[in-house]
Amino acid sequence: MGYGYHRPSTLDEAFLLADEIPDSRFVAGGTDLLVQLRKGEPEPSALISLRGLSELRGVETSKRVRIGATVPLSDVEVNPAVADMFPALAESITKLGSRQIRNVATVGGNLCNASPAADTAPPLLIYGASVELRDARGTREVTVEDFLQGPGQTALRSGEILTAILLDPPADGTRSVFLRKGRVAMDLPISSVAALAERDGATWPRVRLAAGAVAPVPLRLRHSEAIVEGTNLDAEIRARARETAQSEISPITDLRSTEGYRQHLTGVLVERALEHLAGEVGDP
Ligand SMILES: Cc1cc2nc3c(=O)[nH]c(=O)nc-3n(C[C@H](O)[C@H](O)[C@H](O)COP(=O)(O)OP(=O)(O)OC[C@H]3O[C@@H](n4cnc5c(N)ncnc54)[C@H](O)[C@@H]3O)c2cc1C
Repeated sequence: MGYGYHRPSTLDEAFLLADEIPDSRFVAGGTDLLVQLRKGEPEPSALISLRGLSELRGVETSKRVRIGATVPLSDVEVNPAVADMFPALAESITKLGSRQIRNVATVGGNLCNASPAADTAPPLLIYGASVELRDARGTREVTVEDFLQGPGQTALRSGEILTAILLDPPADGTRSVFLRKGRVAMDLPISSVAALAERDGATWPRVRLAAGAVAPVPLRLRHSEAIVEGTNLDAEIRARARETAQSEISPITDLRSTEGYRQHLTGVLVERALEHLAGEVGDP
């Protein structure tokens, strides 16, 4: 591999380098990018490391939660505020790769790589998370749903950096859960499901469901949400949500699974996630 390597210490320096070096690529943990380069993806002229940029570090939990794009996943996983407010996100990270991978991989990289199976995406979708994007011209905020545009495709403009993930604390009493199934340890999921529900007495007025690895992008299951919202989440409703979820995804057959098994599994995971939210089974 014959490309250059730069480690800027300010965002302005990073923007300048990206502008001056055509065909350069940003790199955070490198756990996706370096694997892709070794597999024969076209080599960049240079890698620009994001690890020296202080604006991309740290987890702030004042009012809105701000997770810096280059915070290692293992730090996000054990952050008490994340575990308390966004348990489905923390759970998704415990399932991602190995401890060694999580020690270097980042949430920003998981989103920017835009794999349909990215483990942090379904939880970020149910929590209504946004991303902060910056370039030399300024800062903009985009929802994670709008950010993920297709396999390997995001809303990032040339030279733009994802600087942070932004989350609003959920309402008191909100429950959330993440379930996934892979073939073997350290493999991407065959299907993953995140679910969130807010309770009001005997009913659940607000429910969010999202799935990964079963469509070109991780997606909200809006038809299934409409089936369960405002109900008591009983067994009949959960079974209807399972069937609806199966009809609103578009899985493919690949080396990890067949289309049919993905469809079946996603319905089962949606039903089980709703059982967890309704309190009918213990922790996943
Ligand atoms: C053995 C192994 C197992 C894995 N298992 C899983 C798994 O179970 N689930 C899963 O979801 N993933 C898995 N992965 C994939 C990978 O570890 C994650 O996607 C990780 O979060 C990527 O983060 P990174 O910092 O290493 O990204 P990098 O490889 O550094 O970057 C990935 C892409 O995003 C761009 N990029 C990164 N950060 C930014 C930013 N802040 N702004 C703009 N562009 C940026 C890079 O240019 C590159 O195109 C696995 C990888 C390996 C090697």
